[in-house]
Amino acid sequence: MEFDEYQKLASRTALFAKDDKEYILMLICLGIAGESGEILEKVKHLVRDDKGVVTPERREGIKKEIGDVLWYLSQLARELDLSFDEIADANIKKLTSRLERDMLNSEGDDR
Ligand SMILES: [Mg+2]
Repeated sequence: MEFDEYQKLASRTALFAKDDKEYILMLICLGIAGESGEILEKVKHLVRDDKGVVTPERREGIKKEIGDVLWYLSQLARELDLSFDEIADANIKKLTSRLERDMLNSEGDDR
């Protein structure tokens, strides 16, 4: 599935109680934080309880939480009129440039 196609389909399920940009952006950002926390919690259990062994069940659970984060990121991009394809393309170009210039392990957003 293409990123923009995902964004379009996911937006059909973005139903917010208020039609208020600030409210929606806040809910989306809280959602990103909450769902990211759910990933971390599952990874914690993977490390602590499963001794680092990735069971099929754990993998599936983490996959679902990654999807939840993806959904919120998709909504954030949409609210800011950003195309998911465009974001993915720009990100891979940035990372490829850093790789080619041996700058992956240095610091700064604009390196
Ligand atoms: Mg979740």
